Amino acid sequence: MKKRPTLVVNHENLRHNMSTIIGWCRDAGIDVAGVIKVTTGLPSVALDYESCGARWIASSRLEQLIRARDAGVKIPLLMIRVPMLSELDEMVKVCDYSLESSLDTLKALNEAAGNNGKVHNVILMADLGDLREGFFEKEELVDVAKYVESDLEWIHLAGIGTNLGCVGSVKPNKEKMDMLADWAEAVEEAIGRPLEIVSGGATSSLIPLFDGVMNPKVNMLRIGAVSHIGPLEDLRTCYGREEVDVLSDECFVLEAEVIETNVKPTHPIGELGVDAFGKKAVYVDRGRRRRAILAVGRADYGDIDDLVPELEGAEVAMASGDHTIVDIEDCREPIRVGDIMRFKLKYSSLMRLTASENVTIEEI
Ligand SMILES: *Cc1c(COP(=O)(O)O)cnc(C)c1O
Repeated sequence: MKKRPTLVVNHENLRHNMSTIIGWCRDAGIDVAGVIKVTTGLPSVALDYESCGARWIASSRLEQLIRARDAGVKIPLLMIRVPMLSELDEMVKVCDYSLESSLDTLKALNEAAGNNGKVHNVILMADLGDLREGFFEKEELVDVAKYVESDLEWIHLAGIGTNLGCVGSVKPNKEKMDMLADWAEAVEEAIGRPLEIVSGGATSSLIPLFDGVMNPKVNMLRIGAVSHIGPLEDLRTCYGREEVDVLSDECFVLEAEVIETNVKPTHPIGELGVDAFGKKAVYVDRGRRRRAILAVGRADYGDIDDLVPELEGAEVAMASGDHTIVDIEDCREPIRVGDIMRFKLKYSSLMRLTASENVTIEEI
């Protein structure tokens, strides 16, 4: 018997998405760094990116990049979470490139690279308003770039980059891409040579590309979410971009087993306190309805909003750490104990499911 719950990875769909996106970028003179943190760094996903034409494999976690290398990835590895001082030595051994935003770290990195006898490539980050990593003032970024170029012999300044549409929800647009290009030109003028890389952001930076306003100096994007999730992700659901409708939303499917299908009231009976997670929940009374309980829960996937049932009429109603309650009253097909229900997945549920030891990964 197959061990449940199962996460089915469809590599054909995944490679369709990756090839399509890498093609869009190539047409705009942009190389793609394939970001693998979405699946907790499944090595087969890194290999898919490589075979579809990604130029780097990127992750926010060193152990995921180590697994990719061990699985046979040949292209350069890029660390995209600015590193901890405590991991510089290992990072230099594992990675060829990293994003950097702190002078102290760069100095320590130079020492670590020297100790390992290996030149390390850096992309200095510009914070253009999203308020995550990066130098906030252009002059500061230029000064640090000059210092790296002239004083840090084990570090090669490969380029600059930015990250948008993250903690600050700032939308990548023409203005931000032009600003990044302007900062890159200022660095090039200061160091007297062109930069190899101007890294314009993540999935959300496809917006200026779709709009045809991408600054031609931008030549790298670091793409994770949209390759994996396709149109279920923000580009479609939040920004209404139809371009992504050609992508598959069935690269990853969760299969969970039904363990009960009793008819029950939809409003709890009794004095209400808090739920299993200490939260006060609101329940809508829809009368008595048939509900399936599945043997998978928030411990595995996080939040019920990040599961999308494939079966028409099914609706995820509530969940505990280990149970998911799905309203099946309006489903035309009968559902019995032992049946399997399938769900498409949004970003954070995919990230958690791939990290859960309860979930079996099946690759097709
Ligand atoms: C996660 C991340 C990405 C990829 O973001 P997606 O939205 O998944 O494409 C790119 N760059 C950095 C620095 C990241 O942390």
